[in-house]
Amino acid sequence: MGVNSNKIINYVNTLLNDATIPPEVPNELRDVEGIFEIDHTIRNLRQAIKLVGNGDLSEQLIGKGYLMGTVKSLQATLRNLIWQTKSISEGDFSHRVDFLGEFSDSFNSMARKLQQTISDLNDARALFELFFDTIPDATMIVSSKNLELFNCNQAFADMIGLSKNEILGCSLEKLRIFSDENQLKVFKRAISETDHVMNLSINLGSSEERTIYGLLSTAVIWINNEKYILSVIKNVTELKLLENKLRESEERHRLIADNASDVIWTMDLNGRFTYLSPSVEKFRGYTVEEVMKQSKEELLCPDSLALMEKGLEDAIYYVQNNLPIKVFRGDMEQPCKDGSTVWTDLTVSGIYDKEGQFLGMLGVSRNITDRKKMEEEITRLTEVDRLTGLYNRYKLDAVLKSEIERSRRSDSVFSIILLDIDDFKKVNDGHGHIIGDSVLKEFSEIIKSSIRKNDTAGRWGGEEFMIILPDSDCDGGMVLAEKLRAKINEHKFDAVTHMSASFGVASFEKEISGIELVARADNAMYRAKRTGKNKVCR
Ligand code: GH3
Ligand code: MG
Ligand code: MG
Repeated sequence: MGVNSNKIINYVNTLLNDATIPPEVPNELRDVEGIFEIDHTIRNLRQAIKLVGNGDLSEQLIGKGYLMGTVKSLQATLRNLIWQTKSISEGDFSHRVDFLGEFSDSFNSMARKLQQTISDLNDARALFELFFDTIPDATMIVSSKNLELFNCNQAFADMIGLSKNEILGCSLEKLRIFSDENQLKVFKRAISETDHVMNLSINLGSSEERTIYGLLSTAVIWINNEKYILSVIKNVTELKLLENKLRESEERHRLIADNASDVIWTMDLNGRFTYLSPSVEKFRGYTVEEVMKQSKEELLCPDSLALMEKGLEDAIYYVQNNLPIKVFRGDMEQPCKDGSTVWTDLTVSGIYDKEGQFLGMLGVSRNITDRKKMEEEITRLTEVDRLTGLYNRYKLDAVLKSEIERSRRSDSVFSIILLDIDDFKKVNDGHGHIIGDSVLKEFSEIIKSSIRKNDTAGRWGGEEFMIILPDSDCDGGMVLAEKLRAKINEHKFDAVTHMSASFGVASFEKEISGIELVARADNAMYRAKRTGKNKVCR
């Protein structure tokens, strides 16, 4: 061969390892058999390795393992060749015979492998690019050094409204894809602090135009030993706009609730408020914060609390049995901070989502204190005698009836006093009806001031009065009647000098009726009249 085999080895080493390789085979080696094949193969191999390194997109690919295996096996073959070349140069002639044949076999096999490698590489690369371009989420590859766009897919170009040519090579700053400086800072910080960002909320697009809301995820990829950031941006603008609309509508509803004159509230099944409108303070004097902390007993007066607890019990039953909650309505009396109470007309219904899932209860309380007062006034007017302010006969009848029922039920006793003004005609005749009326009023005042809290006094008719005395027997009735008789007898009336009245007392017995009871008192009273007036009879 006439060439020092060391030179061959050196040349092969240069081809394999040096960054810059000679443009062609050196003259002194041109006669070495197979040297052009070696040269060509190694150059192809270097090209292939470069492709793998360069296109680095492909580094991410499935074929990577296989490719690396192929390259390794190529390296092993070459190492074997170097070893053989070396052994020839060191005088081991046993190898010399087969050398050229082996050389050419090895290189044929290498060339096939290399071709396969390059073809696989191209397939994989095409596959990656197809994948990169077709994924619907905007994807960009940015150099971590200068934040320049190395590559992007169609979805990304579409999202920011520029062509790929306009984008590639531009810096993120220049592209102004982030809506403001701050967003770019957030992105920079995210990629410098961690290699992997997940679903970072970002705003894209200038503020004058439509803002794009995105969720950004990144991964680091290495291309030619340089760090690049692969970013996928999921466009969530529609979702965000929908969310904003929802929030706006929630805020609108809250605004209405906050400013309504009715108290609007939501509550869970444990009876805890989840929302309470501020108007509660106008109702009860307590602030929202104070009411939120109140116990049920502090929220409602006893009767109303019982009603509410029953309603809550029903609601729990309906929810547990997947039945729709029936609308609850009721008048509720609630204690106020100043010690008074307020009446509210309460309506409660269930809140459900689109799937029919129970979310809570919605209540509206309307202040009906004025209405309640009016109702009370109407009731009072139907029960009270206008001239004297005492109860009228209608109310006396009702109290009599309920006392009779109570006595029959509980075996208790009660009495009644019937009194008739003596010689009242003379007042009317001597002083006129107006004075007569004022005497009636004075009588009423004396009666009112003489009875106990539980007693009921009313005008039975003309100038006759009845007093109902619960838990008093006939003797008790006699004592009160006598006291009253004496008081009247001693009273100095305004317009007339002296007045008196005659009294009949009767107590209720189980076997008699209300009519019978009144008749007994009436008879006793007439006995008092007949036997001289200004008297108490039983
Ligand atoms: P006696 O002692 O027997 O009861 O005699 P008397 O004069 O009271 O007689 P009587 O009970 O029969 O008459 C009651 C009178 O009371 C008749 C009626 O004119 C008068 N009277 C009834 N209601 C009113 C009223 O609202 N105002 C006035 N001023 N007089 C009334
Ligand atoms: Mg009379
Ligand atoms: Mg009379």
